[in-house]
Amino acid sequence: MSSPLTSARQQLEAVKPFITALETASDPVALWEKLNQHEHFYHTTLTVQVGETKLEVPAYRSQHNSALGPYKGGIRFHPQVSADEVQALSMWMTWKCALLGLPYGGGKGGIAINPRDLSLNELEALSRAYAKWLTKENAIGPWIDIPAPDVNTNPKIMGWMIDTWQKLHNTRLSATFTGKPLLLGGSLGREEATGRGGALIAQAFARHKKWSAPQTRVSVQGYGNVGQFFVSTAYEFGFPIIAVSDSSGTIVNQAGFDPKDLDDYKKKYRTFAAAAQALDLQIFSSDHILERETDILVPAALEETIHEKNASDIHAKMILELANGPVTPIAEALLTESGVEILPDILCNAGGVTVSYLEWVQNLHGAQWTLEQVRAELNTRMMIAFENVQAGKTNELTWRQAAYIQAVNRVAQAEIARAS
Ligand code: NAD
Repeated sequence: MSSPLTSARQQLEAVKPFITALETASDPVALWEKLNQHEHFYHTTLTVQVGETKLEVPAYRSQHNSALGPYKGGIRFHPQVSADEVQALSMWMTWKCALLGLPYGGGKGGIAINPRDLSLNELEALSRAYAKWLTKENAIGPWIDIPAPDVNTNPKIMGWMIDTWQKLHNTRLSATFTGKPLLLGGSLGREEATGRGGALIAQAFARHKKWSAPQTRVSVQGYGNVGQFFVSTAYEFGFPIIAVSDSSGTIVNQAGFDPKDLDDYKKKYRTFAAAAQALDLQIFSSDHILERETDILVPAALEETIHEKNASDIHAKMILELANGPVTPIAEALLTESGVEILPDILCNAGGVTVSYLEWVQNLHGAQWTLEQVRAELNTRMMIAFENVQAGKTNELTWRQAAYIQAVNRVAQAEIARAS
């Protein structure tokens, strides 16, 4: 049965013959086993009482590999959060940080809850309880594990978490969480970073293919933090955004949307379906976005939205994975067979962790960089990663395999350097 962790392990297995570092390991079998497993896994039931309401929710943190540095990865609040999901996501974080040359390993965590069902006080109580739990376990810290926002978490939540950690440690060191509010040590450019990084990859890919941006149609599945900033930056780079979706439906504009209109729809009506009803726009099902003809399809929602049952409906030339794990391995094989190129998540959405790293560096130095500095550094690092993957890409390898070969070899080499 397909699951994010099964997919993550299959993707790793597919590049095993190319992990040349294994040849220099004293025990290649043990090293391969280690790369397949997480190093630590924390699981509890958080219990919080807010007024009359008692909440009991499962909470997780997976720490996959720390050969290159402290664990790094987001915290997700979503009803589907599970052990399998956070373990897969923490493995993807390891490869992503390695690919970008960041001095980090991979971690990921979450709480199995829908934050829309919570009051603000309940959300704060759960966020603080999560940070307290991991602090008491000595599982987080600037040189241990550095969480950040992910699906349904944001700077406000990171603010509650860093405040909790600082109080328990009697310190104002803020490098244990990234994606914080600016006044609590956040970085300029962090919120936009994942979407912006994805748009930089779209631009680099279009240049590589000699596609002109105004002739390259883009469709975006999911209009949350990541999708929204991808759209505004891709628009700034000249790409027409011809379709966008959220979980309520898909809206289409063949001439290309103005991101300001999309932001207005979201602000005023919350969902595209409600905006379409109020403004008399045509609305399609949320899955319709996958079937529409486009040049670049950008899944920016959740994992496994493109799978074996809908892969053959896709009419895109290229898929840019902005979400983590949106294309299952079976779907990837079918799409590759029919000539669709897939740029992997560990490259396309690495902008977020890259600016998280810049935030951490600023925190450790007590510094505050300008937006221009942050964007320039993001640009340089994303372009180096793209060029490295492109240089390793051959006709026999997918983009994912080319990216994995570099990332996994780097982690394996770090493991070997640590071995006695
Ligand atoms: P988010 O909660 O802000 O947004 C997710 C959006 O997806 C929401 O608008 C939701 O309505 C929409 N959605 C859910 N199911 C959908 C469906 N079937 N069709 C269309 N839309 C759907 O989350 P986010 O932070 O934007 O994260 C999105 C993805 O990007 C996740 O896979 C996450 O792991 C990944 N990611 C996020 C970051 C970050 O910095 N936030 C960094 C790297 C990767």
